[in-house]
Amino acid sequence: MDTPLDYASRQAYDDVRTTSRALDTEAVHAGRDDLARQGLHAPPIDLSTTYPSYDSRAEAARIDAFAADGAELEGTPVYGRLGNPTVARFETALARLEGTGSAVAFASGMAALTAVLFARAATGLRHVVAVRPLYGCSDHLLTAGLLGTEVTWTDPAGIADALRPDTGLVMVESPANPTLAEVDLRAVAHACGSVPLLVDNTFATPVLQRPAERGARLVLHSATKYLGGHGDVMAGVVACDEEFAGRLRQVRFATGGVLHPLAGYLLLRGLSTLPVRVRAASATAADLAARLAADPRVARVHYPRIGGAMVAFEVHGDPHAVIRAVRLITPAVSLGSVDTLIQHPASISHRIVDAEDRRGAGVSDRLLRMSVGLEDVEDLWADLDAALGSRAVVAAGSRASRSA
Ligand SMILES: *Cc1c(COP(=O)(O)O)cnc(C)c1O
Repeated sequence: MDTPLDYASRQAYDDVRTTSRALDTEAVHAGRDDLARQGLHAPPIDLSTTYPSYDSRAEAARIDAFAADGAELEGTPVYGRLGNPTVARFETALARLEGTGSAVAFASGMAALTAVLFARAATGLRHVVAVRPLYGCSDHLLTAGLLGTEVTWTDPAGIADALRPDTGLVMVESPANPTLAEVDLRAVAHACGSVPLLVDNTFATPVLQRPAERGARLVLHSATKYLGGHGDVMAGVVACDEEFAGRLRQVRFATGGVLHPLAGYLLLRGLSTLPVRVRAASATAADLAARLAADPRVARVHYPRIGGAMVAFEVHGDPHAVIRAVRLITPAVSLGSVDTLIQHPASISHRIVDAEDRRGAGVSDRLLRMSVGLEDVEDLWADLDAALGSRAVVAAGSRASRSA
């Protein structure tokens, strides 16, 4: 494991760790601070599922300690489901970026949300207050009560009144998937009182918004999206204080939704370019949002005040025809990759939400959601312009305006 350090150099190392560093610096250094003194540059990938130990009395004590508070095991790992050093590097880095004490990684964003709901329900607090829209599957998980929870849907102003003695969690997304609606996180956190607030920060990323600074106790990411950033890793993570992280590690250990170490490696690598990717894609997205807003073929554009690389828009014509007509942009669900993706939420990402609930949350049947990547803005606009001008889109648009 780690090479021993003399006191002076350990002190210097700790000083670097505790001095606050800018986000761009953390993105490339956090979770990697020990590498140079180990004579390494790229982080090692530890694929072991189990680890040898000749001292089973010591192991018993360590497992008892984990059962008590879920703290990360010191020293050699025991078993892959209890923790993995490569995954731990990603967790350390993400916690630094979100400004929380800890982070706990899972096999997907939905596995991360599941662990939070289990952790709360295990204390008897099964009631959740949530604000629509949420990502379609998060809405479904709560609405269907698949995990034995009960949900009350409300708007941000109704949160305080919706709280009950058995409320264990308040959940919001901002900007929300897919309408990019924003909520005032500070006001929402205030309304929650002592009930933990979970903010799904997948769309904003810590580059644009750090919900923990505004009072969120739990910050959730589908790391499948911007954190991984290249469309080739499925993962989820919750950034939070160490006390809550301990409970999440215990749930992860018991239910098994662990992140694979290779995914942990790819996520750590993804974080190093997160600030430049998000800023570059956001600049292009803001430009495209302005062009769409000025275009007579577009009825409405949704673009958040805080910016970001997601744009949603409603067309006068047939949204399905736009999806069929794009050539450079990939018609696919998901988001946050280096390339631009477009999808029709009412058909795909939010299909699982009851149509009335979906429309009530502002997800129109004409809404398209675009995740802007790193391509040149003129090439993207040329593709969008051609797709919006395709015969099927225009024909449906003129039918709609005649009947309006
Ligand atoms: C994709 C997504 C999720 C679910 O994450 P998975 O990694 O697909 O399980 C949760 N929240 C938001 C906002 C998402 O976009």
